[in-house]
Amino acid sequence: MIACHNNFLTIEHVGQPVTLQGFVAKRRDLGNLVFVDLRDQHGITQLAFDVDNDLKNIAAALKNEYVIRIQGIVRERSSKNKQIKTGDIEVNVTNLLILNSAAQPPLLIQDDTDALEDTRLKFRYLDLRRPKLQKIMRLRHDMMQAVRGFLNDEDFMEFDTPILTKSTPEGARDYIVPSRVSKGNFYALPQSPQLFKQLLMISGFRKYYQIAKCFRDEDLRSDRQPEFTQIDIEMGFTNQEDVLNVSERLIKHVMRTVHGVHLTEPFPRMTYADAMRLYGSDKPDTRFDMKLVDLSQCFSSTAFNVFKQTLEQGGAIQAINVKEGAARFSRKDLDALTESIKTFGAKGLAFMRFEESVSGSIAKFMSATEIEALQEATAATQGDLVLIVASTLDVVRASLGYLRRHIAKQLGLIDATQFDFTWIIDWPMFEYDTDTARYYALHHPFTRPKDEDKARVESDPDTVLAAAYDLVVQGQELGGGSMRIHEPLMQQSIFNVLGMEEAEQREKFGFFLDALTYGAPPHGGIAFGFDRFVMLLGGTDNIRDVIAFPKTSSAQCLMTEAPSRVDGRQLEELALKKTN
Ligand code: ASP
Repeated sequence: MIACHNNFLTIEHVGQPVTLQGFVAKRRDLGNLVFVDLRDQHGITQLAFDVDNDLKNIAAALKNEYVIRIQGIVRERSSKNKQIKTGDIEVNVTNLLILNSAAQPPLLIQDDTDALEDTRLKFRYLDLRRPKLQKIMRLRHDMMQAVRGFLNDEDFMEFDTPILTKSTPEGARDYIVPSRVSKGNFYALPQSPQLFKQLLMISGFRKYYQIAKCFRDEDLRSDRQPEFTQIDIEMGFTNQEDVLNVSERLIKHVMRTVHGVHLTEPFPRMTYADAMRLYGSDKPDTRFDMKLVDLSQCFSSTAFNVFKQTLEQGGAIQAINVKEGAARFSRKDLDALTESIKTFGAKGLAFMRFEESVSGSIAKFMSATEIEALQEATAATQGDLVLIVASTLDVVRASLGYLRRHIAKQLGLIDATQFDFTWIIDWPMFEYDTDTARYYALHHPFTRPKDEDKARVESDPDTVLAAAYDLVVQGQELGGGSMRIHEPLMQQSIFNVLGMEEAEQREKFGFFLDALTYGAPPHGGIAFGFDRFVMLLGGTDNIRDVIAFPKTSSAQCLMTEAPSRVDGRQLEELALKKTN
């Protein structure tokens, strides 16, 4: 007797007695014959109850999702199903045991269920029975094991750092937890284990990793969750090259062992400055061309007022060339594109069609020399459509960066199977926010400036580059990290630039500044968004598909109804008062 799962039996097993168990996925009652599809996490096997089978009447009473165990003999099917692995056979049941009945499920348990997402999340345990999600959960497991396997082989040690901790700012809001014992004080859930992993380097562990839960109370978008998982890595006595190298090998290992994709070339590297200049984005999608072209030179003595004023005010005029786009975009399409970039602050979108003659929204304002210069700069040939934005540099980049992605999708220029892993390096250390009139760390405050820029940290922060790196793929950030500051004085300098008074530095990070004085080795690391990585290989753009029990975009769990009220006694114990 073979006891196996439901995606196992093939024609080779014909004649053999088997035991199977699972959920009833479908029952077809043909009167003298009852078929049941039996489902488990591996797949489906067809069960047959023939006319002369004593169990036929019991089988006729089975309902979807009943839990059963059967014994029977494998036989060849008369009408085969080439879609599934077990499609050549069925099991002629000789013994049927109903292990449990099931209420009628509120959603169809199959891949193309028509249930609303809210229903699926409320009954997530049923949603997870759908083959698509079962496959993704398996993929997630396989990827996690591949990550662990690789890092263990490379002599990394797996750690787990505290969940109840002190706030370590990574730029988002903290989830906080009130302390009962120390009333009026709060823990924070970690936004990342950043300081703990650095402290472990100071403790002398050379290679750390953690599949870490991180919590960030941000406004959610479709690709974000309030709690998410990172592959968190830190290395001591190391340099940027080592971190990039081991990271690249890790990604290649997972791609090869779990996804069967062999990436043999080194991942290309692009500076942040080039990414912004050529793609208008710090996470460029390099699977297609359509790069940004600067036209400021072409229009340096333009008579066209809009362009003239833009340049006088220190702004930029840039374009993308949509190859063979002249005839593919109607005036209405172009109006829609114009509308779409208003969210980035652009006031308008100019276009030029290169056909028999040159036409377009601003053709009449341009001299023949300017048209020629524009054509040369954008390498436009007959049939092309050139889209131009004039505004501040930030607005121009954001608008054209968006347009190139949007149009590439529309025109089908993107190969969804291509993995264009690219390192973005040499990030600026700081970003100045005019609203709050202060500097922020672009990565985080523990990131090291590049050696050649160290001397200018406090005197000229705008020009300082960081030893920071991101890995991007398909226009998404998959991971990011940096070399860290290991000198207490440099750490204090960074805090100074961020406008943190000495008292505040001590209060928030005194323990860490102290630790740096006891011999911190040079160290650096990286963290990869594990959920995003699973999405990439699972071919889904919904982060909720790759997390067993995800939250909605308003950070709620529809199944357990968290967050929820707590009773008055609990609040009293915590010395908390409700204000409404
Ligand atoms: N802690 C950083 C993050 O979560 C990653 C790193 O610098 O290692 O983004």
